[in-house]
Amino acid sequence: MQTVTLNNGVVMPQLGFGVWQVPDDQAHDAVATALRAGYRSVDTAKLYFNEEGVGRAIAESGIPRDELFITTKLWNDEHDHDKVLRAFDTSLRKLGLDYLDLYLIHWPVPRQDKYAEAWRALVELYEAKRVRAIGVSNFTQTNLTRIIDDSGVVPAVNQVELHPRFNQAALRAYHAEHGIETEAWSPLGQGKGLLDDPALAKIADAHGRTPAQVVLRWHLQLGNIVIPKSVTPARIAENLDVFGFELSAADLAAIDGLDANGRIGPDPDKMN
Ligand code: NAD
Repeated sequence: MQTVTLNNGVVMPQLGFGVWQVPDDQAHDAVATALRAGYRSVDTAKLYFNEEGVGRAIAESGIPRDELFITTKLWNDEHDHDKVLRAFDTSLRKLGLDYLDLYLIHWPVPRQDKYAEAWRALVELYEAKRVRAIGVSNFTQTNLTRIIDDSGVVPAVNQVELHPRFNQAALRAYHAEHGIETEAWSPLGQGKGLLDDPALAKIADAHGRTPAQVVLRWHLQLGNIVIPKSVTPARIAENLDVFGFELSAADLAAIDGLDANGRIGPDPDKMN
């Protein structure tokens, strides 16, 4: 498995398994399948209501804890300092873990204006060695600058919507300048439409791969961390089998050319 080294030296698999919209029981089965297939990183969140299923699959896998990389996220109504500490404990308990690899603030919720307080609480958890790395999700440059200036601590990761139709070039450049890893959510554009794009089909045919594999390969070659989701065993395996081929500069440029400001999810400035 290819890895990235975060800004505090912690090593994270570049490809992991996402479980948004997967009910608890199904999340258990999907994570068990993914771990058997060779995934070692799992991305969940309090809001996915499946931390227990994910935790059961982890416990049953018998994989040594230090070979796994588990991420979960703080929800939007828990930005107060004390609520952060409680939410963290609850997530750990549900996951059945005694530390977390990565804890993220799920959304900045600027209208609430408490994300800087939440970030200071994450820094406390990090300093207490309860979590190996801390980061954020759906943060804009404005949000990132604010927490860095306020706390002096640069997030290890910003997990944002990112796929060929919404490639976040400006934010990726800001991340690179500040030592923040870019993690792509909905890396396959949720499958809808994007994977039927003829430009992707052409590149996929040329490499004897699927459009999903080409999109994941594009992310990896850009340096993004990716967390594709599937509950279908064949696709779970397919999405991991992306290390044995290389896209050319022309392929990458063609995929870069699909950018169309095509956001699928909420605008972080408007999310409550
Ligand atoms: P995704 O881009 O991973 O797409 C998943 C969908 O694509 C699947 O449901 C399936 O329909 C299809 N698909 C998957 N593999 C395929 C294949 N090989 N061939 C054809 N179709 C395939 O979408 P996602 O689930 O939205 O994002 C991935 C993960 O990102 C989530 O599970 C979650 O962990 C994370 N996420 C985070 C946030 C956030 O706010 N931080 C938001 C959304 C998602």
